[in-house]
Amino acid sequence: MSISHVMRNVVCVLVASMCAACAATAPALTPSTSAPTVISSATSEPTAAVLATALPSTQTSTQTFDGERAYESVVQQVALGPRITGSEPNRELGDQILAQLAANGWMTSTQAFSYQGTPTRNLIGTKGNGGDIIILGAHYDTRRRTDQDKQKPTEPVPGANDGASGVAVLLELSRVLDVDKTGKQVWLAFFDAEDNGDLDGWDWIVGSRYFAANMTVTPTAVVIVDMIGDRQQEIYLESNSNRELATQIWDVAQQMGYGDQFIKQMKWSMTDDHMPFLERGLRAVDIIDFDYPYWHTVQDTPDKVSPESLEHVGRTLEVWLEGDK
Ligand SMILES: [Zn+2]
Repeated sequence: MSISHVMRNVVCVLVASMCAACAATAPALTPSTSAPTVISSATSEPTAAVLATALPSTQTSTQTFDGERAYESVVQQVALGPRITGSEPNRELGDQILAQLAANGWMTSTQAFSYQGTPTRNLIGTKGNGGDIIILGAHYDTRRRTDQDKQKPTEPVPGANDGASGVAVLLELSRVLDVDKTGKQVWLAFFDAEDNGDLDGWDWIVGSRYFAANMTVTPTAVVIVDMIGDRQQEIYLESNSNRELATQIWDVAQQMGYGDQFIKQMKWSMTDDHMPFLERGLRAVDIIDFDYPYWHTVQDTPDKVSPESLEHVGRTLEVWLEGDK
């Protein structure tokens, strides 16, 4: 997300209008030679461009979100190396995400396109037969340059919190979420090319913008998780997010005893993967802890992330979706 769009609450109105102006400029998306996948519905016939693994979703989960498991995923993702859009570790992580989703009984599809001559790929898992569609999203790419690092401004970002934490929460939810119990259809969306904004002519939130532009369903809610694993967790309300939806989620967190982490005060205004959905008039929320001193530095490493923080977010979403277990 963009720091230029990040300010204290007192100037939120100005910031919001800047974001809208910025977002009105469509990224120069160039379809790749193979036709990009248009997500029409989770039950559509898979095309050649869609990697689909339809497994029965009959098993019901009595598991609960495990922060330790999610933390293992953070460590494992960082061990792959920086997951920069177009890089081999990015491709490898994408393949691993698809495999884990399939193993957990989700139907998977991919949405490939080219951006600035770079192969870019969103990953989607779907499960459930309910009428309402809920999308949970996170970016899985990492920023190619640590431009907030005063000592080492030209390294790639390790992305333990900024990238891996959101992916880890979604993957652990794919294991434990009882989608039948939600009565809804749940989509897990892993966006590429979120985090190279303002580098080499790249825009922010490219993957989610492509996804939203090609979406032909109308989700009732879109919830983005980004940078939510900080050991010193403090998740404030984000000012662009849908207020009603955010209140629902923060209320659940408080009921679960996470009121010190989910703080019901507005602090930041972010250009993040929720924006393309808000711009389409959809209810979307960004769950983000932007009070993170290691943002876009070489120090965004797993030791800054904790299993407990991941668990607070995962369990909150689990209970918000399922109701009490
Ligand atoms: Zn970032």
